Formats: sequence, structure tokens, C-alpha cells
Amino acid sequence: MHVPSLIEKKRDGGELTPAEIRELIEQFTKGAVPDYQMSSWAMAVFFRGMTARETKNLTDAMMRSGRVLKYPKGAPVRVDKHSTGGVGDKVSLVLAPLLACDDVWVPMISGRGLGITGGTLDKLESIPGFNVALDERRALKQLEKLGVFMIGQTGDICPADKKLYALRDVTGTVPSQALIVASIMSKKLAENLSRLVLDVKFGAGAFMKTKKEAQQLAKSMSEVGQAMGVEVSHQLNPMDEPLGRAVGNALEVAECVETLQGNGPPDLVKLTLDLAEKVSDTSRDKLAERLTNGRAWKKFIALVYAQDGDATALERMQEIHRAPVIKPFPSKKSGVVKKMDAESIGRASVLLGGGRQRSDDTIDFAVGFSQIKKIGERVTRNEPLFMVHARTEEAYSSVRPLLAKAVEIA
Ligand code: URA
Repeated sequence: MHVPSLIEKKRDGGELTPAEIRELIEQFTKGAVPDYQMSSWAMAVFFRGMTARETKNLTDAMMRSGRVLKYPKGAPVRVDKHSTGGVGDKVSLVLAPLLACDDVWVPMISGRGLGITGGTLDKLESIPGFNVALDERRALKQLEKLGVFMIGQTGDICPADKKLYALRDVTGTVPSQALIVASIMSKKLAENLSRLVLDVKFGAGAFMKTKKEAQQLAKSMSEVGQAMGVEVSHQLNPMDEPLGRAVGNALEVAECVETLQGNGPPDLVKLTLDLAEKVSDTSRDKLAERLTNGRAWKKFIALVYAQDGDATALERMQEIHRAPVIKPFPSKKSGVVKKMDAESIGRASVLLGGGRQRSDDTIDFAVGFSQIKKIGERVTRNEPLFMVHARTEEAYSSVRPLLAKAVEIA
């Protein structure tokens, strides 16, 4: 393989063959293609895009750069969901145990927070003891026993994506549709799924700012998945206001507990059921019943115990991770909430310490926002629009201007 020729071919708008893509990814994973060549290739892809065939072949090559989960003969249907990420998006923690009440397997491999969007692994790690780093053998045993695991990407799943994403992050090549599709789908397909539902967000608080972009991404991800033998469905969802009423790791786990006990906020319950319905053979009514009759809640408790977590902590998350400064953010006037900007609230949450500004930052599980008013709700002057949970008074003061701009009352 002559790497400069592959870069030139892509730069000039050519289509790479399956063998060229496979070889490039194999050699890059081994360290035989230097970062400067791979970065240059990624930039050529950014400008020229990829055909549907190239995108599928890139996904396949990245998936095969590491291990693909194997299941015993006769294993049940495997289902999962992927969200492109939102503010307050805690659906996975409710959806995984809910789906696992059926005779299916939910082998959920999730990520950490990225920018203003939170990550499932960070939320799970706010539960004392919860272990997201199970090895494959233990994870599979748990699947046989409980029907569900929730873990992070191990070193041997999609190593090509790990390397390439790190390069894209520092070379301005993250927002390439083909590279995003291959990155997300290679990891999901390594779970060896039967069915996958995609929750593709659009709007201020999402990666994709317009519905059209989200639609294109969903179409491309679905095509790749179908071509590789997985039933893929999707839903486009706005991300203009946070999902539910809580943002912040422990605060979101507390909201998930309420939801699993039948007292969740309507938007979170609706989205969870919308997505569950797309991969489940069980009716929506029956799925909804499992959120009120304790079945999904019991499954979540069992999951937490199985992964070394202290399930007795689940109903005390806000006491265990209590921020020293908890203050209401009052409304300046009476009226109806017109805007509760997800992007600003997500950014403020990161600034409070609830997300990472650098990849090696540690997360403060206690900080964030609770009791967030929803768009369309009435408020009176001085009524709290939300509660701010901060580590210090200074941290609280530093996000006030951003929060003031996040809200509009009319
Ligand atoms: N999430 C991923 O895993 N990869 C991307 O490229 C973008 C979002």
C-alpha cells in the first residue's frame, strides 16, 4: 500500500476500494501509518465525503480492528440503542433494564461525556462502587444471568476508532459525516446486535444543529447497519431544552430512580418508551407498566449489584453527592417559559465541574441542576426556574450570566 496515493485519491474525489480502506485501517491500527498521513487522509475525507459503499467498508474495517462480541449458539435477540448525545439525556439507565425484562439481551457499551453532552458511564460511576470495566467473560456471564450489562469500551474493541478519534479531535475533522458514522457504528456493531435504535438529536444542545443534518446522519447510519445485517430504526429528537428536569451525574441518576419507580418526568418517560418500542416485541402499554409495577426497577437494582455497585445508595444519591452550595435561580418575571436553552445549561454544567473541559479532568458527581422548568410551564416572579448545585459560591457566581441568557420568559 502506498499511503500518499490513497490520500491523493481521496483528495481528488475518488472512491477508495474495500481493499484500500481495509489495508489503511489495519496498518494505521498497527502503527505503520503515521499520524500525519492519517490526519491528512481524514481531512481529505472531511472535504470530499465518502460514498455509501466507502462508509460501510470503513465501518467494517474499524469494527474488525478489534474484537467483535461472540455469543453462544441459540442466544436471544440482542438489542441496544445509541444516542448522538444530549443535555440531561439519561435514557440508557432506564431503557437498558426496561428492555432486559424481556427475553432479550442488552449488551450496552457506552461512552463518557463529550463536550456539553453527558455520558452514561460517568452517570453510572456516580453510584458508589459501580464497575463499568467488566472483562468480556464476566460481561457475558452477566448477560446470561440478567440479560443486561452496561460497560465502557474495552481496549480491544475498535482500537482503530480510539486512535482515529484522538487524531480527529485535534485536527478539525470530527464533524465529517462519514467519519462520525463509521466511528459510532463500528462500536455498536462490535456488540454483534440483532436490532439497534438510534436516537439522533438535533438543535442547540446537540451535535447536529439542524433536523436536516440529523436526518442525513440517521439515514447513513441506518444504511450501514442494515448492510451489515442489523435491523436499524431511528427517531429524530429535538434537543433545545434539557431532557427531564435534572442535569448532572448524581442528580440524573436520582431522576432515573424516580422514573424506574413510576414517577419520571413525562418527556423522559415518553422518549424511553418511543425508543423501547422500536426494538422490543412487547407492546407500549406493557413496557409502560414495567415502569410502574417495579419490574424495571428491580432489574436495575440487580444490574447495579451485579456490577459491584451499592444499590442501597440509589435512593440516597442526592445525600451521598450533596453539593455544598444549592441555590434557587429565580425568575425575573411572571409568565410562560419560552426558552430553557440546553446548550447553555450543558455548558454551565461543564463549568460547574459536571463534565470535562479536558479529557483528563475528573468529574464532580454532585453538581448540576435540578427541578428545571420545562418550556410551556408558567412561573411567577421570583419562583425558582431551577436549583443550581455548585461546589463553591464562586463557581455558582461564575455561571450566573450564562444561566441568565439560557432562559426566556414571556
Ligand atoms: N461519537 C463518536 O463515538 N464518534 C464520533 O465521531 C462522534 C460522536
